[in-house]
Amino acid sequence: MQIAGTVCESCHQSIAFVADGLACPKCNATYHKSCLTVNACPTCGADLEKEQSAIQERKEEELAQVKRQHTAGKVILVCIGAILLCGFRIFASVSRGEPPRFWMFQAITIVVMVAIIIQTYVRNR
Ligand SMILES: [Zn+2]
Ligand SMILES: [Zn+2]
Repeated sequence: MQIAGTVCESCHQSIAFVADGLACPKCNATYHKSCLTVNACPTCGADLEKEQSAIQERKEEELAQVKRQHTAGKVILVCIGAILLCGFRIFASVSRGEPPRFWMFQAITIVVMVAIIIQTYVRNR
């Protein structure tokens, strides 16, 4: 939201610096901080302090979401790697004619990895 260069709705003077101004997130009206006597928007009556903290919370939530997705991406990548590795080992074992107990552990690992991928995907939707 652009604050510098806008006009204060209270005194109708232009706001020169961002640090001097405050914007109402509800009606987009801008004010000098010094022109606001109460912490409410004179135009729409929104609680500015509450709105500001709500914006802050949303930003933090978005950031956390991005972080979660980032971690999820890594987890899924590692799981896919493990699946490919185990799959290759099972394939090699079977083609050598080895009994299931030789590749049972790899098969279980694949099942677990698939479960982790599904869980990670569902949680991050
Ligand atoms: Zn003003
Ligand atoms: Zn307002």
